[in-house]
Amino acid sequence: MIKLEELTKDYGKGESCTHALRGISLTIEKGSYVSIVGTSGSGKSTLLHILGGMDTATGGKYYFDGQLVSDYSLKQLEDFRRKNISFVFQNFALMNQYSIYENVEMPLIARHIKNRKKLVCDVLERLGISEIKDKKPLKVSGGQQQRCAIARAIVSDSPVILADEPTGALDQKTGSEIIDCFEDIHKSGKTVILITHDMKVAERSERIIRIEDGRITD
Ligand code: ADP
Ligand code: MG
Repeated sequence: MIKLEELTKDYGKGESCTHALRGISLTIEKGSYVSIVGTSGSGKSTLLHILGGMDTATGGKYYFDGQLVSDYSLKQLEDFRRKNISFVFQNFALMNQYSIYENVEMPLIARHIKNRKKLVCDVLERLGISEIKDKKPLKVSGGQQQRCAIARAIVSDSPVILADEPTGALDQKTGSEIIDCFEDIHKSGKTVILITHDMKVAERSERIIRIEDGRITD
């Protein structure tokens, strides 16, 4: 379970300081499917990065399964990320010099996991991209690239999948198919938290968190 208490994030100091998060308190249950919506610059990505341990808060508390993540050292934060978090980005963030297969295999190599082939092939199959596994990302469609990024996110079996505008670079139909993938992931027991501009996407989740100017509005 995720619990935030009065979480704040400032970028910069003094006159040029931006208060990106101004006191966010919320609880997200394990295994839930949550979307975060809000206008551009409202603090969505900042919040997701802190949840994923990719950035740290300025103030407040972040608990994950009862552990105080906001007190972690950088080393502890890195361990926390590796064990618990996978990220999917709007622009896919694949390594274009490697094949689809190699991209999906990478988190397993980073975690020193052996017998990788079956794990990789199973997720490629699950995402419907087995046939293109030997191609480089730039040789396949945007939807297929995002499927690859999702395969890479779930192959290491992290309990939490975070996605920042995962359909933002895709047309409506392809985006909707990508959301089907997130729904499947949620059904398999994972916690899914995704940012979206698209209310149609948000409405398919179990819960919508609205953020405006660094605060939750309801
Ligand atoms: P969103 O994802 O909702 O568009 P962000 O979390 O990216 O919003 O940004 C929230 C606010 O923080 C914005 O005013 C943005 O300009 C600012 N911001 C985000 N990242 C940085 C950064 N690395 N340095 C300085 N300001 C930043
Ligand atoms: Mg953003």
